Amino acid sequence: MMDAMDAMGSSEMGQSAIAVDIGGTNTRVALVVPSPNPGTGQSVLEVAPAFATEQDYAAQIARLAVAVISALRLADRRGRAQPLGIGVSLGGRIARDGASVLVAPNLRDYEGRPFVQDLSAQCGSLPVRLAHDAVCGLLAERRSGALAGMERCAYLTLSTGTGCAIHLGAADGGAGVTLSIELGHQLLDHNPRVCLCGQVGCLETYTGGRQLALRYGQPIESLPAAESLDLWRDFAEKLSIGLVNLAHLTRVERVAIGGAIALHRPGLLDALRVALAERLRGAQLELVAAALGAQAPLIGAATLLTTPEDALLH
Ligand SMILES: [Zn+2]
Repeated sequence: MMDAMDAMGSSEMGQSAIAVDIGGTNTRVALVVPSPNPGTGQSVLEVAPAFATEQDYAAQIARLAVAVISALRLADRRGRAQPLGIGVSLGGRIARDGASVLVAPNLRDYEGRPFVQDLSAQCGSLPVRLAHDAVCGLLAERRSGALAGMERCAYLTLSTGTGCAIHLGAADGGAGVTLSIELGHQLLDHNPRVCLCGQVGCLETYTGGRQLALRYGQPIESLPAAESLDLWRDFAEKLSIGLVNLAHLTRVERVAIGGAIALHRPGLLDALRVALAERLRGAQLELVAAALGAQAPLIGAATLLTTPEDALLH
């Protein structure tokens, strides 16, 4: 087993990190290696095929430990110093101390377990950092994607759910703060739909992939175009209301939009821009496509290792 002090003692700019992306369906593990030229991105080396996320918490920790060993071997073969640690992106709300999962509707067995402690214990005491997947998406896009250099920005993921994270920079040039927000669970006036969260009227009843699939009886990406016109019109219309609220309540100035639905429906971004321009007054909000695609959670998870603890508000 490796020694954690070796890992910390050899910390340096440009060191690799092990990245884990735990989705409700699949888990991916990668070694993320920075480019030798600062600011030009990272190489994401997946160490094994994605595997089905274990609903059983202990089984998942055991599988992750095996994958982490593969990642360490890969780093060794490539002549890399021991990775900085393990960054984990997870689709769920993280406890305030960043050490456990508070709410994960798709991973109920994980809730309240000492995730960071357990994974680290199974991986030779390597440091472990954990964050919401939208936070990881934002960190990745700010580091080397569509939000590079932005001090007031958001990352929106349109997927199973409607996830969002925002970043607001510090006036003194400090790290600022990044946090996930429940954009999908804001209420829309005159919306009688019951959300999977239990509230009546959530935006996500119009934009959440899981809720729409339940309503239409199949994944919305596979609906025939003629049958889904109303769905996509409502999707853009309702989401634009959510984005107006986002602009006024947070004062972010650019939103990078990613997630499976955005990737499968490239025309959605233009429809959203039109709907937003019709509504938004007194503020500006630029909508851009997320640049890093499916790699964003992994790059963001790796970025966690070099993000100051007090820059994340879980
Ligand atoms: Zn809801």
